Amino acid sequence: MNYRHIYHAGNFADVMKHALLLRLLAALRRKPKPFLVLDTHAGIGRYDVTSEQAEKTGEWREGVGKILEAPPPALAEYVETVKRLGLYPGSPVFSAAALRPRDRLVACELHPEDAAALRRAMRAYEHAAVHERDGYEALGAFLPPPEKRALVLIDPPFEQPDEFSTLAKRLNASWKKFPAAVYAVWYPIKHRAPVRGFFETLKLAGIKDVIAAELLRRPDTDPARLNGAGLVIVNPPFRFEAEAAPILAACLEMFGEAGGRAGIERIIHE
Ligand code: SAM
Repeated sequence: MNYRHIYHAGNFADVMKHALLLRLLAALRRKPKPFLVLDTHAGIGRYDVTSEQAEKTGEWREGVGKILEAPPPALAEYVETVKRLGLYPGSPVFSAAALRPRDRLVACELHPEDAAALRRAMRAYEHAAVHERDGYEALGAFLPPPEKRALVLIDPPFEQPDEFSTLAKRLNASWKKFPAAVYAVWYPIKHRAPVRGFFETLKLAGIKDVIAAELLRRPDTDPARLNGAGLVIVNPPFRFEAEAAPILAACLEMFGEAGGRAGIERIIHE
């Protein structure tokens, strides 16, 4: 496990992922019944973008750093939340800060040092529990939750060459156990073939109601580069697609290069 998110925190992919996460959380809050957020690959929760590691790549400057002063309207809520939460918030902090008194967060992180840092970051949040454990296994352990409502964020580091296939397998098993959850699954876009293969596997598995929200900064032709990123969403909440479209368009405007594109594709019908 070499991946450390501090090198990438606040980059264009985080902006897109976290801005969409905020809309998913808002959608779940529209109904009074409490829900669980299960964050399977949580990271450390708070990131100092002035740290040596973050400055080494400088990715945040090309991401959140570009929009802090004058965010496009569709990213204003996200930027306000980043400023209100302080440091650069990771997914479990965005989620915990959005919970109501009866909602819960379970955040899993396998790296021992990162899990300890996450535990420190989450102390401020009463309804958050941190588990140092494999996030994929946590899907089996925590679902279905007693609340019978859940948002599940699966955001693996893609260090393993077979991550797409693991992801598809684990998502399928989890969906079979608890088909009602909203699943948001992050994936990198380097070149198209593995992404297409991932979508095909989901189709063959029989999972229903799936969309993919994507930001392609530049054509996905050079497999050595992170050309874009996507979120597969199973059971997208009512109005989510309409809310996500301007966020993706703003991300394209801010982070896109020649040949870039952004949008939502329906992968599997309801
Ligand atoms: N979700 C975080 C966010 O948006 O702020 C970023 C997470 S980062 C992309 C992936 C994290 O997963 C890393 O911190 C890594 O240590 C952790 N990780 C890797 N394999 C894991 C596993 N099997 N279970 C849980 N965490 C894992």
